[in-house]
Amino acid sequence: MSDPSVVPQGEPEATPAAPEVTPQDSQPAVADPQAGTGDQQHDPTVHDALQDAGIVRDPNEPQVIDTQNTRLDDGVNRCPRCGSTEIQLRPSTGMLVCLFCRHEWSEAQVESAISGDGNLSDLTGTIIASGATNIDPAVSGLITMKCSGCGSEVVVNTSKTMAMRCHWCRHVLTINEQVPNGAVPDAVLPFQITHEQAVQRIRDFAGKRMTFAHRRFVKEFTPENVVGVYLPYMVIDSNASADVWGKGEVLIRSYTRGSDENKQTYYDADVYQVQRHVDFTVDDLTIESSAERAHMNVLVNTNNIINTILPFDTKNAVQWNASYLIGFTSEKRDQDVSGVQPVLEDQLLSIARSRVEPSVTGYNRGVRWEHERLEVHGTRWVSMYLPVWLYSYYHEENGRGMVHYIAVNGRTGETMGSVPVSRGRLLAAALTAGTVIEGIVIAFLAVTA
Ligand SMILES: [Zn+2]
Ligand SMILES: [Zn+2]
Repeated sequence: MSDPSVVPQGEPEATPAAPEVTPQDSQPAVADPQAGTGDQQHDPTVHDALQDAGIVRDPNEPQVIDTQNTRLDDGVNRCPRCGSTEIQLRPSTGMLVCLFCRHEWSEAQVESAISGDGNLSDLTGTIIASGATNIDPAVSGLITMKCSGCGSEVVVNTSKTMAMRCHWCRHVLTINEQVPNGAVPDAVLPFQITHEQAVQRIRDFAGKRMTFAHRRFVKEFTPENVVGVYLPYMVIDSNASADVWGKGEVLIRSYTRGSDENKQTYYDADVYQVQRHVDFTVDDLTIESSAERAHMNVLVNTNNIINTILPFDTKNAVQWNASYLIGFTSEKRDQDVSGVQPVLEDQLLSIARSRVEPSVTGYNRGVRWEHERLEVHGTRWVSMYLPVWLYSYYHEENGRGMVHYIAVNGRTGETMGSVPVSRGRLLAAALTAGTVIEGIVIAFLAVTA
């Protein structure tokens, strides 16, 4: 971008502007790392013929990878050592633990099963893991299971919980089958930060902000109320190309004219038409797949906050096992691939712009991009539950309600949040600062007078 500091006041354009030259970017100083690469257009007729012959897969037809955990069925999920159903996550190890015999184990990581050992730059078409396939609105969130302990029927509301205790025999029943209602993802990234550690992070975070915090918030602050929530995300691999066009400016010389009061500095610059092509891949881009998180007004804050505690080490996600959710809450995915696609394309374009930036540093007055084009060659979609500790606080002021959150990344401990501010306390602080500034100005006037 053009650096405003080199442009004199009232002199926004370089004078005299050199004619806009060079149809193709003719940048003198910097070698273009992308020059001559990447333009590998397929011959459409050859491609169609191959496709008709069944040799090339229709790229519009998504390919589905089955991620169903075949070891597990709906219902009783037993400890592999003693058969007990009292299983839950032990965050300090990130493993499942049997509360009866203390045996610890973990589901397999999904990364290799989904990505294989292929290179991302070879990724074509749309590949969707089975847990990320389209949600069928006709499928109810209520799932009835037959308890294999005692034979009773147990109903689980999957929009609220993924496990239920049979009230007759006390066995814990879990949902592991991938029902197309968005409730069962391909993978889960287990909590690794413990409740105790999360409470401490939230206490530290809020502690630094208590000076201006609303009095009621300070009084009611109980970080022990923090809850662990698995939030639904799409984790996406992409293979893409982008072209960007714009104008870059190189400073030729600067000089001054006039004298004394009327002295003015002029800058001469050459303006070039700049074009860049970049082929790039993106591994594990993480985008929320709950519309509520993305759009709901009151929670706009939350959405932003959750994004600031990214990234997660999604490579360590494991195959779905509902026992990872015992003791935690979760939110169901309600967005399909098509709903998340526009957000993905937006993010890919901004990644493309940042990738070409190092190759245009020779334009010392900056480059202004005017057109851009994105071509997505291939994407791979995995639905995933990511762990977040949340401390929420409902605050009402002048009849307007607002939910404030402090969120802790359940893997890295990264913490961000919003704390309701007392206008009175802020005003008091501003007035004090204002008084000081006023005092200085008065003193200054007194000296110059
Ligand atoms: Zn056991
Ligand atoms: Zn039972």
